[in-house]
Amino acid sequence: MDTEKMKELQNWLIDNQTAVAYISDPQHIAYFAGYESEPHERVLALFVSAEAEPFLFTPALEVEDAKSSGFTFDVIGYLDSQDPWKIIANELKQRYGSIESFAIEKNQLPVERFESLAQAFPGAIFSANLTPLIQKMQLLKTPSEINRLLEAGHWADVAFEVGFKAIHEGVTEQELVAEIEYQLKRNGIQQMSFDTLVLTGKNAASPHGNPGKSAVAAGDLVLFDLGVVWNGYCSDATRTVAFHEPNDFQKEIYNIVLEAQLAAQAAVRPGISAAELDAVARNVISSYGYGEYFNHRLGHGIGTTVHEYPSIVAGNDLILEEGMCFSIEPGIYIPEKVGVRIEDCVAVTKDGCIPFTTTSKEITIIR
Ligand code: MN
Ligand code: MN
Repeated sequence: MDTEKMKELQNWLIDNQTAVAYISDPQHIAYFAGYESEPHERVLALFVSAEAEPFLFTPALEVEDAKSSGFTFDVIGYLDSQDPWKIIANELKQRYGSIESFAIEKNQLPVERFESLAQAFPGAIFSANLTPLIQKMQLLKTPSEINRLLEAGHWADVAFEVGFKAIHEGVTEQELVAEIEYQLKRNGIQQMSFDTLVLTGKNAASPHGNPGKSAVAAGDLVLFDLGVVWNGYCSDATRTVAFHEPNDFQKEIYNIVLEAQLAAQAAVRPGISAAELDAVARNVISSYGYGEYFNHRLGHGIGTTVHEYPSIVAGNDLILEEGMCFSIEPGIYIPEKVGVRIEDCVAVTKDGCIPFTTTSKEITIIR
């Protein structure tokens, strides 16, 4: 459990004159309480009071897991045969008295859940929104969070090694995905941070394509975009490698993307804005005439989720600070021809940044 984050949340409740925070997004519960769970349709909630102790509310089958996760306050369970909202209402009234105001995650809370809570507390107000607070807190990572992001990045490097080794004539995208995830899971990784992406040849020209039965052939560029969850923190990295000698056009595109990626990574430091950083990479690609084929933002924040703030995008004047963590992932996608993306996530340091992944970015040729 992260007591400092919990304290910050409690102070925010006091400042906002709100009695209780109801947190139900599993990733947010992990962020504050340190307990990782995917409850599916069952109710999982963290209740944090401005002045009294917080508690976790979980399905009965998870109570022991939650207690042994390092969460030091009460864990209350409910059986599938019980009405969770009756138990929640009783617990809250007993612990916190009559509650007049709740803070909720407005971009995350299903209407049905909201109505259940509102019915249990008629007259309470729900105007305080936790979403901007959590987004703001997630902007700056602590050294221990950065360590976990580095560990997660290490496993992405391992995944690249597995994937590159498995490339041969005729192997399909799905077979490469399967090999990577199989080897990582054998090594103790429980979860990928998103579905592993392997795209070969023309398929790589779609930035978010779906790996299928396409087979790798000599002369293809093969794009790997992948990451794992490690101790609750995500990695996300992309490498594009050549199977047999790339032609001049593939080399040209690759080297432009590489130049853009390296230029942006070298430009990261406290004081530059997100928009300026996006422009560093975009200007490189545009200067070669391929600007229209770099059709997404430069990057996104990373932490307990794979996409969070800061967004590294034109128009975002946010000034980067030490402790911010995000991806730098320029790409060029020319439909029916070629797709190249190179991505590292980094943490901003006092005078630059450290990348979480270290697999070589020079063009790798596999034979
Ligand atoms: Mn990314
Ligand atoms: Mn990615």
